[in-house]
Amino acid sequence: MPLATLRQVLDEAAKGGYGVGAFNVNNMEQLQGIVGAAEEVQAPVIVQCSRGALSYAGANYIRHMIMAAAEDSSIPIVLHLDHGDKPETCFMAIDLGFTSVMMDGSLLADGKTPSDYEYNVDVTRQVVEAAHAKGVSVEGELGTLGGIEDGHGSGEVHLTDPDQAVDFVEQTGVDALAVAIGTSHGAYKFTAKPTGDVLAMNLIEEIHQKLPETHMVMHGSSSVPPELVERINNAGGKLESTFGVPVEEIQQGIRHGVRKVNVDTDGRLAITAALRETLNANPSEFDPRAFFKPAREAQKQVCMDRMQQFGAAGHAGDYTVLSLEEMKTRYAGSPVSA
Ligand SMILES: [Zn+2]
Repeated sequence: MPLATLRQVLDEAAKGGYGVGAFNVNNMEQLQGIVGAAEEVQAPVIVQCSRGALSYAGANYIRHMIMAAAEDSSIPIVLHLDHGDKPETCFMAIDLGFTSVMMDGSLLADGKTPSDYEYNVDVTRQVVEAAHAKGVSVEGELGTLGGIEDGHGSGEVHLTDPDQAVDFVEQTGVDALAVAIGTSHGAYKFTAKPTGDVLAMNLIEEIHQKLPETHMVMHGSSSVPPELVERINNAGGKLESTFGVPVEEIQQGIRHGVRKVNVDTDGRLAITAALRETLNANPSEFDPRAFFKPAREAQKQVCMDRMQQFGAAGHAGDYTVLSLEEMKTRYAGSPVSA
């Protein structure tokens, strides 16, 4: 099946009232775990690559791997660029065949310094014009998340302003909007289980009321399961105690317009737990496949759990994937198009 676009997959998720997991990929085992999970529970899935992933695996390499996964698969798979730092990076991804890109104009091109609003509107709009002309979807970001991911992030939190969100969507024409509600990138999100005061879930409700047609994206939405942290530490790891975003909070977001949920850390933790345990239990083993198989299985399990929790399981066959050509026609009449 050809790759699906973010716009179509999230439009369908809105109709069905569920959220779609967006899982980060850096290598073959992660990809096979993620796509294997989606196949098993019949969920649409977003596979995303950060700039760090592209430089780790090689952009062309990773693209071919994901194209191969889509060819062999019968479920909708979106290939998405996570946190594009500048329009040129997004254009490069579009040329490579990505069906969706994120232009993160909430930060300057250094990926660290918070930008001003006009800059964000300007770079995001440039990307939307180029992307929609090719049928490719765009995610923008308004407000900044805490934490640092693959060297990306200012470490400062600026919550999204709902009125500004309305203006931003109008001016840029983005398909999806990443909102900052107090989550952070990385494994160390919260020092205690976050409550309603820590996570501004009311902002999601407010933005959804003002922008019912815009799909919201929750970044930094790993749940950081304590049992994975414990397994890693029991197998010789040294992770500090930490809390992620509770699945119930994500489910509440999904009830109010969150359609894309970014999960990276949980997969990393699952893989690390499986690797440490297998290496410890088999000290004489030196065939890498003996370690990578359980790691791939661990990534798959975490993804299946999230796909079920976000309500996406069982929805893979609800629709026929539209080609980029068909999406191009759909965008042709929209206010922000080339
Ligand atoms: Zn992110």
